[in-house]
Formats: sequence, C-alpha cells, structure tokens
Amino acid sequence: MRLRTIPPVFLYVAAVTSVGLALLVALILMAAPGDFEVRSETLWLFASFAVLGELFPIKVARDGEEEEITTSTTFVFALLLSEGTVVAVVAQAVASLIGDVSRGKPLWKAAFNVSQTTISLAAAGAVLEVVAGVPNVAGPPFGTADLPAIMLGAGVFFLTNNFLAGAALALAQRVPIVRYLRDDFAFQALTSGVLLALSLIVVVAAAFSPLLVPLLALPVVAVYRSASTSLENARLVGRLEQSLVQLTEQAAKNQYQALHDALTDLPNRVLFHDRVQQAIRASQRERSSVAVMIMDLDHFKEINDTLGHHNGDRLLQQVGLRLRGVLRESDTVARLGGDEFGILLPQVSDAATATTVAAKVLKGLEDPLMVDGLALDITASIGIAICPQHGEDVDVLLRRADVAMYVAKASHSGYEVYTVRRDRYSPGRLALAGELRRALRDNELVLHFQPKVELRSGRVAGVEALLRWHHPRRGLLPPDEFVPLAEHTGLMRPLTLYVLDAALGECRTLHDLGLPVSVSVNLSARNLSDLGLPDEVVRLLHKWDIDPRFLELEITETSLMVDPARAMDVLARLSARRIRLSIDDFGTGYSSLAFLRQLPVDEIKIDKSFVMNMLSDENDAVIVRSTIDLGRNLGLRVVAEGVESEEIWDRLAVMGCDLAQGHYLAEPMPPEALAAWLQSTTADLGPGAESPPNGQAERPASPARDALPDTPDPSAISGQ
Ligand code: C2E
Ligand code: CA
Ligand code: CA
Repeated sequence: MRLRTIPPVFLYVAAVTSVGLALLVALILMAAPGDFEVRSETLWLFASFAVLGELFPIKVARDGEEEEITTSTTFVFALLLSEGTVVAVVAQAVASLIGDVSRGKPLWKAAFNVSQTTISLAAAGAVLEVVAGVPNVAGPPFGTADLPAIMLGAGVFFLTNNFLAGAALALAQRVPIVRYLRDDFAFQALTSGVLLALSLIVVVAAAFSPLLVPLLALPVVAVYRSASTSLENARLVGRLEQSLVQLTEQAAKNQYQALHDALTDLPNRVLFHDRVQQAIRASQRERSSVAVMIMDLDHFKEINDTLGHHNGDRLLQQVGLRLRGVLRESDTVARLGGDEFGILLPQVSDAATATTVAAKVLKGLEDPLMVDGLALDITASIGIAICPQHGEDVDVLLRRADVAMYVAKASHSGYEVYTVRRDRYSPGRLALAGELRRALRDNELVLHFQPKVELRSGRVAGVEALLRWHHPRRGLLPPDEFVPLAEHTGLMRPLTLYVLDAALGECRTLHDLGLPVSVSVNLSARNLSDLGLPDEVVRLLHKWDIDPRFLELEITETSLMVDPARAMDVLARLSARRIRLSIDDFGTGYSSLAFLRQLPVDEIKIDKSFVMNMLSDENDAVIVRSTIDLGRNLGLRVVAEGVESEEIWDRLAVMGCDLAQGHYLAEPMPPEALAAWLQSTTADLGPGAESPPNGQAERPASPARDALPDTPDPSAISGQ
C-alpha cells in the first residue's frame, strides 16, 4: 500500500543509483592491479579536461528551455578507449561529483549521475573489450580495424546513457518514456555523436603529442562561447516575448479601463459616445431609428450625503445591475458620470417603443434597492431623443436627451421625449441668454407688481415683484422665458440683486407716499446656494432704509431640494436678519412636512394650479383645504395664488385662507400704476374701514382695473 504512494521516479532513481554504485564499487574491487597502471601520460590530461567539461557545461537553448551539454563525455570516452573501463569510470565519477557539488546539486542527483554514467561506460567498455580488445595493452590503443567496434561501443554508451537519463526525466514529467526518448532522440544523438567522435581524435592526437590536446579544446571553447551568446540571445528573446505578452495584456486592460466605468463596470461616456455613433451609422444604412436616453437619479445627492459615499457607490452599482437586467443584450447601458446613466436602443421602430422601454426601466427601479441593510426607494428621470427625428449627430442627440431629462425631472413625469418647444437650449433661447447681460445693464428688465390681499379685511398686505423684459425686438417677455436662462449663465445673482434693488426702491417710494406695504421678491435655486446673499439683502435694505419686516422672499419647494443643506444654511442666515420667507408654489414639490417644519418660514403660497381648479376638481379642493389647515397648525400665513373669480375668493374665505392673489384682484401692474391703485384701494379701506377694496372709478388705468373684485365681505366670513 505504502509503495504505491511513492512516485515511480523515486523508485527508479533509487534502483539505478544502487545498481550503478554497486557496479562502481565492484569494478574498483575486481580490478587487477595492472588496471590502475598508467598506460599513457595523457591520463591526467584527459581527466583534467573531463573535470573542466563538468564544471563548464555548454548551455544551449532548446524549444525555449535551457539545456546543458557536458563536454566531459569526449574525454571520459577517450579515457575508456586509451585506459580501459575502471580508469574511465573512476575519472568520470570524480569529475561528475566535482561538477555536481560545485553547482550545489543534491547528493542523490549527483549519485544518480555517477551511477548512470558508470553503467553506460561499463556497458560500452565491455563491448569494446570483448569485440575488439580495446584498449590495446601494447602499442596504440586502437587501430583502423577497430573502428566499427568502437562505433558499436559508442552506440551502446549513447543508448544506455540516453535511456537511463531519459527514463528518469520522463518519469519525473509523467510522460510516457518511449515518447519522451523518441522526441529527444535526434538532438541527443547529434550532440553525443559529435562528442563521442571527437574522443577518437583526442586519443589519436594525444598519441601524436599531448600538447595537441589543449589545441583540440579550442573548438570546444569556441562552441562554448557561441552557445552562451546564442543562449543569451534566446533568453533575451524569451524575455522580449514575455514582455510583449505582458504589454499586450496590459494594453487590453488599459483599453478596457479607458472605456469602462470602474465602479459599475459599465461602458463609460467615451464608449457610449462611440456606440451611439455606430448605431447612427447603421440606422442610416438601414433607414431605422435609434433611441438615446439619459437617466438621472432623483435626490441621489441627499442619499449620498446621508448614507455616505461608500453606500452611494453601492447604490449606483445596484442601479447598474438593475438596468442591465431590464434591458436587452443588444442595448447599451453606460454610466456617464455621477448618478447619470446612458441607455442606447440601437434599433427602435418609433418613439413609442422607446417610451415603453423607459417605463420598463423605471418600473425596474421600483423595488427598493438594498444597501447596507437599508431598503432604499429610488426614482429616476429619463430623457429620450430619437435619431433621425431629433438629430443625426451624437452630441446633438445627447444634449437633447439631456434637455428632455430635465423636463422630466422638473415635471416629475418620470420620462419625456424631447420636444423643441421645451428646449431651453434651442437657438432662439441661446441668443436670448446672450442678450440678457446687456438687458440687465441697459435697464430693459422691469418689475411689475401684483397685490396680495387679506381675505378677511380686503386690505392689501403686500405686493409681489414679478420680472418682465422689455425686449427691443420681441416685446414684453414673461419671466418664464428668460429667468431660467440666468440660472445657466451665471447671471442669477446679478439678476436677483437687480430685482431686489428695484423692488426695495419701489417699496421706499410707496412708504414715502404713506403706503406701508411689504414687497415680495422671488428667489431661484441658484440664490439658495449663495451664502453671500443674506448680507447683500441687508445692504440693500439699508440702502433704501426699509425695515426687514417689509421684505419677503419667495422660495419654491423644488429650488430647496436642489441642495437642501446649503439652502437651509442660507435661509437660516436670512431669518437671522429678520427677513421673512415664503414657500412658493406649495404642493408641486415633494418636501415633507417634517422638512417644512425645520424651515424658518412665515408663509406658504398654495400653487395656482390647485386654486384655479378648486371649484371643479374635488382633489384640488382637498389639497387647498388641507394646506390651509396645515399652515394653521404650523402657525404660518397661507396665501392662495391664481384667484381668478369671486367664487374662488368666497370659497377661500370660508376655508380660512389668509391672503389671496390673482387676476380677480389685480393683474401684475407696472410701478407707475401701482401707487395709484394702492391709494384708491387703501383710501376706500381707510383705517378700520368697514368695507374691502372698491372704488373702481379711482383706480388707475391698468390691466388690473377690470378684474378688480366686487367687495369680498369680511362679515360674511366671520359669520361662518
Ligand atoms: P410665481 O412666483 O408663481 O408668480 C405668480 C405667477 O402667476 C406670475 O406669473 C403671475 O403673473 C401669475 N398670476 C397671478 N395671478 C394669476 C391668476 O389669477 N391666474 C393665472 N393664471 N396666473 C396668475 P409671471 O409673472 O409670468 O411669473 C412667472 C414666474 O416667474 C413666477 O411664478 C416666478 O416663479 C418667476 N419669476 C417672476 N419674477 C421673478 C424674479 O424676479 N426672480 C425670479 N427668480 N423668478 C421670478
Ligand atoms: Ca412667487
Ligand atoms: Ca407661485
């Protein structure tokens, strides 16, 4: 049982070694005293060269591997021919031991080598002696007639030696012995043949004069030199080949890294660009359509800030996996950077197919994603652009998908297909953006003011400043057409400061006229990340000598969500300067009650979309009512905007809303008209006046005139 666990090569080596060593000892013991007689003075010469041959084997490269050829064979065989078996065997054993020991080979290997050559030499020696009586004791060691026998002896030596060594290597490498020997035969036969043939010449030359022997070593030295050079070359080639392989591998790796996102392992922007390009070309050939989508996660920044970047990364990885799972193999999903992903559908029949896929992608994100044991609900917005409909250039398509994505985000619709109408970046818009700076400088921007009226008393509590652009060619432009452009061109700060300055200036004028109304100014998302804004506001209040309680800043819920932490900071600074804050367009954003409670606000303005339809749409009515209740509970003033009719005014009064703003009361009017309008209204009102605004006759000629309310009756409200 135990034997089976010992590898055959060990058994083989052990067997050969024991036989060889036993033979060596036997040969020495059995030798006649005459056998050790030095027959020629060349013995020491041959023995020395045998040692040298062992010490400096010729190294050659063979099939990428290094092999050693020991030239000692020549001199040992020469000894065999001239001095007989015992001398040859002993000389070989000594030379081989010296060589192996000097190279630090383990003893068992050295012993095996000695044994192997001993057996081979003994076999060859026996043949020579029996067949031809070589070496000849008297006269020259051999004659011409002995040559066939010598060749036979050399053959026996070669075959035995080659078999013994080859079998060991074959066993060690676990390849069939016959195959190993066969594959190796030609090489071994050639080298051994040369070395053995040389031994004849060595013997003959030595017989002529021992001085010739060192000369014979010269070609060996030459071979030795050239072999080591070619070996060096082979090594060099080997190293080159290896580094070439490494370089190729590295290049492939670099190429991959250059085209993929390290975090998600998805294609990156560069590769996405390339794939879109290819898809466009293919679609032009096949007259088909390509859909390009850009998807952006909603509120990813908050998740990242709250849970840390590590978990943000994990989330992005999972989103990547979800996307891959939902889409087809032929579609490309790429990470374009941050929380932005690109999707390429290389072949779609129409936009409807693309929207179906977009809906599927959003549905795929519906199940919560598990990150760090937390189930995270994530939503996203997708913009879609179709080639050739929306462009046949990669950059154009990507930009348009991006525009559509922003539309989807702003309208919370999930996904949108690009339309020129909603493109802020269409050529007309871009021209406008360029002109805005000049417009600011040339005072083409003007403010109109729209009153906010107290529902209970009919008193005007304040006015909201709404921006207009007197464009030299396009006429009066509404703010929706140019304010968003300022957000993207870095003009938001100067624009807001301009509005604040003009609004407070108007406020000063009104106060000086004895009309102590407050003024409201709208802020944008960009303003809410501007930590310097609060001090600028204070500076302008000082400039116009207005008490902060007469200024109100309106902020939309959505602008708060862009960077909530920063916005909170700015709001806190404003509040610390006693400036009042109002949440505009309330109900259209996603801010939670908990979030609202943290804000230092004084007022909420119910978005006009709910107010305008509250009589016909029960849902809107519920929203208006619950917002009023919410404001009450939080101790906030509630304003309803978009009040367009008396019925709405009455209904709001019943609900307990504080203020109303809308066309029913007055449309936004230019400053020239405002003072007169206010004077007529407050004159009607008077301090402690019984009735709310009336006196249409005195009202200035303004668009507001015809829309002024009939007297909303406060007593009717108190009676409810
Ligand atoms: P907003 O703050 O919600 O302003 C109210 C908008 O509703 C105004 O539109 C006003 O004219 C309109 N409106 C008032 N009463 C009624 C009504 O009864 N029915 C209807 N259908 N609409 C009514 P406007 O002046 O076109 O302003 C649009 C938006 O532009 C504003 O919405 C505000 O978000 C922004 N905006 C205006 N001026 C500025 C400004 O100076 N700075 C910034 N950042 N944004 C401004
Ligand atoms: Ca507003
Ligand atoms: Ca509003």
